[in-house]
Amino acid sequence: MLNFTIGPVQMDKETLEIGQKQIPYFRTHEFSALMQENEKILCHLFDAPENSRVIFLTGSGTASMEAGIMNFFTKKDKVLIVNGGSFGYRFVELCQIHEVPFTEITIEYGKPLQKKILYQYDHQNYTGMVLQLCETSTGVLYDMNMVGDFCKKNNIFLFVDAVSGFMADEFSMKKMHINAAITGSQKALSLPPSMSFTIMDRESQERCCKHIVKSMYFNYADYLKNGERGQTPYTPAVSTLIQLNEKLKRIEKNGGIATINANIQRIADYFRKKIQHLPLKMFTALENSSNCLSALTIENNKINARELCEIIKNEYDIYVCPNGGDLAEKIFRVGHIGNITKEQIDQLIDAFDDLVKRKIL
Ligand SMILES: *Cc1c(COP(=O)(O)O)cnc(C)c1O
Repeated sequence: MLNFTIGPVQMDKETLEIGQKQIPYFRTHEFSALMQENEKILCHLFDAPENSRVIFLTGSGTASMEAGIMNFFTKKDKVLIVNGGSFGYRFVELCQIHEVPFTEITIEYGKPLQKKILYQYDHQNYTGMVLQLCETSTGVLYDMNMVGDFCKKNNIFLFVDAVSGFMADEFSMKKMHINAAITGSQKALSLPPSMSFTIMDRESQERCCKHIVKSMYFNYADYLKNGERGQTPYTPAVSTLIQLNEKLKRIEKNGGIATINANIQRIADYFRKKIQHLPLKMFTALENSSNCLSALTIENNKINARELCEIIKNEYDIYVCPNGGDLAEKIFRVGHIGNITKEQIDQLIDAFDDLVKRKIL
């Protein structure tokens, strides 16, 4: 089986080996030390400002999106949401559920956020902004330097969903003036699904400790307090955290974020070069695309995208990623994160070639 989806992705053998072992009890000094090391390395990889902290939440990326909205904002805020796809829309739904006042910047699928659009919201007393680094439904990479400068200028609290973009694309909390950012275990970190991580600067820590959060499990003040001794309030996905520790140390040892970033880019470039002769087209222009994935349309709509994913799964034992919602029939996605080799990409290309030969594609 080959897996080119955007999560869960193909894991490293080191990660798989840890997954086979018994899970230790976690209220111990040893586990606390491991957690403190996880926190330190994650802050380093996110290029987070001094005194940043990490919330280790057992729950997928959406749990941290929701917890972030609950802990960082209240009814008194005025939040800007960039909605250019299904993950942007998720923030809209979350602000509705939690009654956080918001304005939606709706962007056509596959298009970037333009400066002239963003600056229509200049000097308008917004207190928060939320968006994705990479909008995973279309692979658009937003210009986070531009967004960060805008937020700094307007004194806006910036919360970024970097779940899929972290490690695939350039990212720095310090340089981009980001207050809080999240990623998930099953994306580029290539761990099993189960956990998501929020890296928080001083201001975000103060924000959530000041609010009364109507939730027990999602109360960040509690996580921050427990985290001081390297613990979480409730039982976390212990094995994922041990796998995270091994992975983070391995990243640091092998050249840090720059090396991983370059690898993912190399895989993305290789794939994009290899599909040039095929009747597949990038849905999002190359200059606006994240390295995390390629969103593809099929020339002449010869086959519906969802059906194509089914055939590749059933007849070639390869997973590519269908889309949801409005785009389900039209586009599908190929992920570039996880443990993927060029030879495996060649196998995927062979499958596409075979489908062309069979006149299916
Ligand atoms: C994968 C992803 C999430 C989280 O999705 P879950 O299914 O909850 O893990 C959130 N945001 C983005 C941009 C993602 O790609």
